[in-house]
Amino acid sequence: MHLTIKCPDCQCALPVGVVAEPSAIMCGKCGRVTPLTISENLRADREVDTCPVCEGRDFYIRKDFDPQLGLAIIITGALISAGFYWFGMDLVAYGILAGATLLDLMVYGRLGDLSVCYRCHAEFRGQYPRTAPAFDLHTADVLELEWARKLGKQ
Ligand SMILES: [Zn+2]
Ligand SMILES: [Zn+2]
Repeated sequence: MHLTIKCPDCQCALPVGVVAEPSAIMCGKCGRVTPLTISENLRADREVDTCPVCEGRDFYIRKDFDPQLGLAIIITGALISAGFYWFGMDLVAYGILAGATLLDLMVYGRLGDLSVCYRCHAEFRGQYPRTAPAFDLHTADVLELEWARKLGKQ
């Protein structure tokens, strides 16, 4: 399993290899050290049960999608199609545009799901079965606030 945690100070993403069993990770940007408590299930890629950063047990599932990649496909398609349009080959232009949109949908459909921690936004990628529910805005509001208060007290 692979983790990506968010630094509580500067919000930058820090990739963590669970196999190495680190007990803490230092942010390369601001130097803040975040202690990690990696559970047995996480290490074995069995289940996302307890978040190693905030020790929360509330997660949601989302598509492992990079919006910038999707945008790049569409923009590239639009540029190529504009070139054909310029030379009067409208049909080819429309075809390429449609193709780029289709490619975008295919990329999206093939993506796996990942679990995200409601409180600290740590992300979990691996082969474990996805059991977490879909994102709920109300839960996120409550739990993010709780985590922010906890960080403030430390
Ligand atoms: Zn940081
Ligand atoms: Zn967490």
